[in-house]
Amino acid sequence: MAKDLIPNPESPADPESVRGPLTPEQADKLPHIHRLLLGYYGQPKPREPWDPLTQFIYSLLSSRTKTPASQQVMRDLERIFRAGPGNWEPLRDASVSDIERAIAIVTFPEQKAPRLKQALEQITARVGSLTLDFLAKYRTEKIRSWLEQFEGVGPQVSAAIVNFSTLRRRALSIDANHLRVIQRLCTVPRADAATTETRLMRLVPETWDAAMLDDHHTLIQLHAHTLCTFADPKCAPCPLLKICPTGQRNQAELHLTNP
Ligand code: SF4
Repeated sequence: MAKDLIPNPESPADPESVRGPLTPEQADKLPHIHRLLLGYYGQPKPREPWDPLTQFIYSLLSSRTKTPASQQVMRDLERIFRAGPGNWEPLRDASVSDIERAIAIVTFPEQKAPRLKQALEQITARVGSLTLDFLAKYRTEKIRSWLEQFEGVGPQVSAAIVNFSTLRRRALSIDANHLRVIQRLCTVPRADAATTETRLMRLVPETWDAAMLDDHHTLIQLHAHTLCTFADPKCAPCPLLKICPTGQRNQAELHLTNP
């Protein structure tokens, strides 16, 4: 288990308490992380965004599931239950047991199958047809609060839907991996994912559009799976070590125990 979950003694200033414009140092926090990760991992492959309903289905199913398994399930669902681009009516009309069988490799399929079917039925009842394309005409905050009415859709999922889909809005989907890296870096004070997103979004440069935020999220995910893993962060080769209090503390402790 990594010895990294110690509160940072040099807790960063909370952007919520900041009045007025950010200092140059605060304003460069995320761009600096982004530049260092870009230098190490390279430019992420551009995403080909899905329609909002397809992204909704993926995001609902993919929580706490490894990406390859989530992607395989989407391919299976498309093959079995999709009638055409963006047409998921056969999935909505399938039995819960058939859906559960098709999504068996994600975590908690017995919970996600009825939740997904119910959400697709509720969307149809509220909208008059099974689509989320109408959301494009609303403000981002309104879209997210509308999406968060559905069981299983919290801030992380609603952020993923608005940012990754063709809605292409500014948002940061803070899952457990993203939260871990940001907390180790002490970029903002420790908090839950929703508060962390709010705090990070205050640090996001105005010039970063939705695609740039998607790239940033992808780089953080890549880092979380490559070097900044849950159990065994590899701090020595990490491109963020010079700005990471947790990594520096880990390295110092390592030198004390292995002088
Ligand atoms: S130095 Fe890098 S790998 Fe180590 S905790 Fe910090 S971000 Fe993670």
